[in-house]
Amino acid sequence: MRRIAAGNWKMNGTGAELGEIETLAARNTDSVEVVICPPATLLSRAADIAGPVLVGGQDCHAAESGAHTGDVSATMLKDAGASFVIVGHSERRADHGETDADIAAKAQAGLDAGLNVIICVGETLDEREAGRTLDVVGTQLAGSVPDSAASNTVVIAYEPVWAIGTGKVPSNDEIEEVHGHIRQLLTERFDTGAEMALLYGGSVKPSNAAEIFAVPHVNGALVGGASLKASDFGGIIDALN
Ligand code: 13P
Repeated sequence: MRRIAAGNWKMNGTGAELGEIETLAARNTDSVEVVICPPATLLSRAADIAGPVLVGGQDCHAAESGAHTGDVSATMLKDAGASFVIVGHSERRADHGETDADIAAKAQAGLDAGLNVIICVGETLDEREAGRTLDVVGTQLAGSVPDSAASNTVVIAYEPVWAIGTGKVPSNDEIEEVHGHIRQLLTERFDTGAEMALLYGGSVKPSNAAEIFAVPHVNGALVGGASLKASDFGGIIDALN
């Protein structure tokens, strides 16, 4: 089973922050895939200094090139040195109105470009309180994960929207319930579904990482705020090691 510590810098970071990646690059990453997804503006410079740390984009367009002002294609990410791309983050779904079908097309573009693709799913607080978590996540998975997905290239990240950047984390039982459901759906649909890595994301910190990684079917984390400092992210990588 792959184990992955992925950092999503979101819209944070200029050249002044590249030192954090340099610090991470000095670490031993033999038993865990360590990925940093900086803003697209830093991708190429990050890739040059990342050593064994992998770099990824935070989104890609579904087309390979064309008249799409401001967008970046998966081929361009690959060309800039990326080996991963995140698609379907809840901030993209909310800020840019991305649908499951959009996300499946982006994921397929990432796979076609030779990237590993991290596909994000997760419920809002209203959906959880209405008892709809498993339904919502199941629908997102069915619509956002392309039929060509396989465990060596696709990673699923469960990120409850209400846990992102809030300091609130679901209980271990709640994480286990959703990850177990995701595992079951992936295993039913894909030959390699039992081996697809499942990441938890939402307020992961060095102080709670070990407990979260002990939950069945949690194979790593997608980390926002705590990935911005190499010292914090290093603590999370240590907990996964
Ligand atoms: P935080 O770790 O800041 O809660 O963000 C999680 C996230 O959205 C990662 O993609």
